[in-house]
Amino acid sequence: MRETFLSFSPPAVGEEEIAEVAAALRSGWLTTGPRVARFERELAEAVGAEAALGVSSGTAAMQVGLAALGIGAGDEVITTPMTFCSTVHVIEHVGATPVLADVEPGTLCIDPVAVEAAVTPRTKAILPVHLYGHPCAMGPLLEIAKANGLALVEDAAHALPAIWNGRTVGSIGDLTAFSFYATKNLTTAEGGMLTGAKELIDRARPWALHGMSRDAHARYQAGGSWYYEVVLPGYKCNLTDLQAALGLVQLAKLPRFQERRAQIVSRYTAAFAEMPAVEPPVERSNVASAWHLYVIRLRLARLTIDRNRFIAELAARDIGASVHFIPVHLHPYYRDRYGFAPDDFPVAHAAYHRIVSLPLHPGLTDADVDDVIAAVAEVAETFAR
Ligand SMILES: *Cc1c(COP(=O)(O)O)cnc(C)c1O
Repeated sequence: MRETFLSFSPPAVGEEEIAEVAAALRSGWLTTGPRVARFERELAEAVGAEAALGVSSGTAAMQVGLAALGIGAGDEVITTPMTFCSTVHVIEHVGATPVLADVEPGTLCIDPVAVEAAVTPRTKAILPVHLYGHPCAMGPLLEIAKANGLALVEDAAHALPAIWNGRTVGSIGDLTAFSFYATKNLTTAEGGMLTGAKELIDRARPWALHGMSRDAHARYQAGGSWYYEVVLPGYKCNLTDLQAALGLVQLAKLPRFQERRAQIVSRYTAAFAEMPAVEPPVERSNVASAWHLYVIRLRLARLTIDRNRFIAELAARDIGASVHFIPVHLHPYYRDRYGFAPDDFPVAHAAYHRIVSLPLHPGLTDADVDDVIAAVAEVAETFAR
């Protein structure tokens, strides 16, 4: 038994980040400026994208992306129920209608067969989520998008960095949204980035800053002009230099973070493969997951307790665990607005009752990982059927 509670996902921020944020504060430029521009260039390069736009959150990146594509009232966007609510909220925020398509049983990513069945003459885009860091089945999704003239906007909040068929997520669909929320693989406390072709990112840029034709840095640096024009009714969701300072240091550390995540995943999977009540997560042979989350599925027929009790028993053993996610169609707002029943998306619904997210972050020691494994084993054995 541990002596301290093992927290589920604390941020990995060190003295280097603190020093760079202090340098940004001392630079005289706090909001969107040179550090954001550098962070945009470096992140675009890291994911193999032509261009990137820094914004205030992953949610904002998706919303700005949909707006830049001209998606709005009367349009439908197909997405997954197995995600955080904001993936679906942004579709409503731009005035369009979310259409949910069930997930694949293995990866729990959106099922291309269900996507194809959901396409109507009103469909304008597909918004897949690379769930837990595992890339979606992009081959069929790209084909469906092409055949039907749809945009592909990817929710890559979990997928920095992830590879599909040798291509980095961020360079595959039309637009890709990354999140730098405190729990994500790379954090700026709050923040996000939209990547894509330069032409599309140029079109998206004014949407993040009031629809202004030029940002403050362009207007107030030496040789700048005070003049700007408002070209559309944009949002206010720009990224700041303080956040970019954090992001630049975190981006430099990301390869090390990912190496540690992969080591932890190997240790977990080797241990859980031996436990009859536990199904470890899958990774397809043509991808490299970003391993944002490590999500086991309980074989409930082999246990006398349900998933909620399993998590409570882990907590009693000082192990923090969580659930990602409560499927969107079960939440009262979406359930009532669209009249969803739980089994309208049976794969997502069945998985929901079995999933447990275990601690996975670069700060875990091997002893921490062994504590998690021991606690899972003990709960599974204590409550074996
Ligand atoms: C975190 C997350 C988001 C939202 O990102 P924010 O930066 O918090 O806005 C969107 N989708 C998924 C799947 C997420 O996990």
